[in-house]
Amino acid sequence: MHPYIPFIHFERQAAEKTIEREDFEYYKKKIAYYQSHGIISEKPVSGNGQLYLSPELIEESISNLKQIVFETTEKCNLQCKYCYYGEYYHTAPERKNQDMPVEYAKKMMEYLSKKQLSEFNQSWNHWMYISFYGGEPMMNMPLVKSVIKAGKMKNRQIAYSMTTNATLLNKNVPLVVDNDIHLTISLDGNKENNSYRVFRNKAQTFDKILSNLKKLQQQYPIYYEKNIKFNAVLHNKNSVQEIYDFFQTEFNKKPAILELNNSGIAEEKSNEFYATYRNRNESLSQLENYAQLESELFLDMPSYHSALIFLHQYIQFVYKSYEDLLSGENRILWTSTGTCIPFSRKIFITANGKILPCEKIAQKFALGTVDENGVYLDATEIANKYNTYYKTLSKQCAVCYRQQACNQCIFFLENLEDKPVCHGFMDKNSMQKYLTNTISFFENHPHDYSRMMKDVIIS
Ligand code: SF4
Ligand code: SF4
Repeated sequence: MHPYIPFIHFERQAAEKTIEREDFEYYKKKIAYYQSHGIISEKPVSGNGQLYLSPELIEESISNLKQIVFETTEKCNLQCKYCYYGEYYHTAPERKNQDMPVEYAKKMMEYLSKKQLSEFNQSWNHWMYISFYGGEPMMNMPLVKSVIKAGKMKNRQIAYSMTTNATLLNKNVPLVVDNDIHLTISLDGNKENNSYRVFRNKAQTFDKILSNLKKLQQQYPIYYEKNIKFNAVLHNKNSVQEIYDFFQTEFNKKPAILELNNSGIAEEKSNEFYATYRNRNESLSQLENYAQLESELFLDMPSYHSALIFLHQYIQFVYKSYEDLLSGENRILWTSTGTCIPFSRKIFITANGKILPCEKIAQKFALGTVDENGVYLDATEIANKYNTYYKTLSKQCAVCYRQQACNQCIFFLENLEDKPVCHGFMDKNSMQKYLTNTISFFENHPHDYSRMMKDVIIS
């Protein structure tokens, strides 16, 4: 039977109040009701006692790696106004326009193949995902070709993906189609919407991208339908409505809409940056046909997204894996902040040979290196590093009500190496408010609750 939330009609006014001291009793009762029905747990779910990361867990992640991301090159043929490596940011690492040497990728592939033979491997038949990232990855196609060639020699099912600006796509169509590469294309909407995305000589990129995509669509409609996705960045020259309308009309696709990164902004550029920056939630709330698009955009709507996170993190009958379902428990192996076990999601290799747990975090947190002589990764050293970081936060986390469902990555905290302060900390008061608001959302959206459970969580 499909799990359900019983919809009790609480007084809406009370539910919408901000929590004052005198309202505590009301909220306590409401939460106690959900706890008694097994919808949220009575006590914070603690982990299995393993507060610290062990070298074995890291070995296990490397040996069962799901995704390798190669920063194919630091070079880019575009100079977008808001680029992370551009004028607005002072924290971006210096770029030397370096291509990743083919030898680095070969050594990495050899190293990971050997790890698959280790005692920690449990995933021989699983798919492996290899992604090419940049700069503009199509500016270093020899590396892409050599990785694909190496991949063909492995007895493993591999799916490839690439994030690209598509301006060089016309030169690489046979390769991407023959190897079934999934492309995520950066495009901000129509010509005016896309006008921050320019070539190095400041010429507009829109016409070139559109023509490349239209040709691909005509020649390989099935590949196009299945393999092309879009990322659009929101700023002061577009809006959620315009982006959505453009992709719907021109490509019959729904893009991911991203905000500009607003951390690490150079002080002298702050005014200019914030004149360019647009908040996604604000732009969503200005949609003319909000009600109609709400259902289509679904998880792109902030309220839906946050409700889904709640289902994943708090509902007692959502299991992370079949193993957890069959054993009747949610195994929480790693309770330290919301940081992933290194390499449990992916491994990211920069063009200059640094090894990181993902492409989002700063290079100063590199966990190892690769060069023409081989790979240097030491699981004990990495475990010690994480455990030291974790220790600096342990007092805050121990009394934080978000601990059970923390999604704070440790690498985004300021002063990580000294005295980090987590702004996501939640006290009892804020937690009760959060639970009440989220449960009220489900009471108001019973059909969407079913849709999330069926279409997102179960499928
Ligand atoms: S952002 Fe943090 S938690 Fe997320 S994948 Fe990267 S390292 Fe892991
Ligand atoms: S203090 Fe921050 S990192 Fe620690 S559990 Fe709370 S939200 Fe997560």
